[in-house]
Amino acid sequence: MIPRTRPAWQTGGWQQQLAEALGDPEELIRRLALDPGLLPAARAAATAFGLKVPEAYLGRIRPGDPHDPLLRQVLPLGAELEPAAGYVADPLGENKAMPVPGLLHKYRGRALLVVTGACPIHCRYCFRRHFPYAEANPSRQEWSTAIHWLGMNPEVHEVLLSGGDPLSLPDPKLAMLARRLAAIPHLRRLRIHTRMPVVVPDRVTAELIAWFTGTRLQPIMVLHCNHPRELDAGVSAALGRLREAGVTLLNQAVLLRGVNDATDTLAELSEALFAAGVLPYYLHLLDPVAGAAHFEVPVDRARQLHTGIRDRLPGYLVPRLVVERPDAPAKLPL
Ligand SMILES: *Cc1c(COP(=O)(O)O)cnc(C)c1O
Ligand code: SF4
Repeated sequence: MIPRTRPAWQTGGWQQQLAEALGDPEELIRRLALDPGLLPAARAAATAFGLKVPEAYLGRIRPGDPHDPLLRQVLPLGAELEPAAGYVADPLGENKAMPVPGLLHKYRGRALLVVTGACPIHCRYCFRRHFPYAEANPSRQEWSTAIHWLGMNPEVHEVLLSGGDPLSLPDPKLAMLARRLAAIPHLRRLRIHTRMPVVVPDRVTAELIAWFTGTRLQPIMVLHCNHPRELDAGVSAALGRLREAGVTLLNQAVLLRGVNDATDTLAELSEALFAAGVLPYYLHLLDPVAGAAHFEVPVDRARQLHTGIRDRLPGYLVPRLVVERPDAPAKLPL
């Protein structure tokens, strides 16, 4: 590999890729040779939650196939605009679980910092698609409030960086946050929840690895990958760099109709993750967020799929099938 003379965040590598992400439904349909009849609905649905897909992900979508499992995760559909019983704006009651702005404390021993509302990609099923980022989004001032709260709560041993996607922020800013967290004596682990290495693998820069593994906190990364075809050679190489540096890699997937609701697909996903050095952690039932009802896999079917992979994979490749309930003390196993 040719060493970079300047870090990627200065030359604009990954940031440029994010800035240039495709956002126009017409262009998406043209680039992927899809039926132009999809356009009016895509436009309408994209006004509520915009289309966003970077080139690095777009390149993995099969042209001409409206049922491509990667396309389905990003293509706005008219179905999003149809109201569905039980599907609401804040399905997890997160707006109530914030002791200070941008900090969610729902589970014992762990606290989650919402460090940004920005994402590299807009996943149509996202449970935070209506999240009030404007209110929750911590300015530097509010990080200080959250960090102060963490310092005052010695039972918290692990901080999760979430969002949005925390790796949307530049490395110097995240490095500063990591240093401030490492200075809180009762914290042991720093966990990043991110889809970024799967979407824009160039985001896994030497700078990222340096700050993430450079404090006394044990680094854990929970990726978000839903389909084996999301893991291409570039993603595997990025994950390899993280693993070599000592980052524990886990994956959470969401069970999605038309994307990964087949035993074969889920088994292949686990195999592909492990080949890339990642252990499957959670398989989430869809959160009932307004606009995502068409992705629902019924509970009975979910159990059946989970049994299907349990019957054919080693135990360590079987993710826990869980559902999140607003007032539960943990993610609930099904
Ligand atoms: C999911 C979640 C966590 C992490 O749960 P784990 O079971 O530790 O992975 C922590 N805080 C909040 C608010 C969460 O939603
Ligand atoms: S928060 Fe995660 S699931 Fe939601 S849009 Fe962003 S990357 Fe996708």
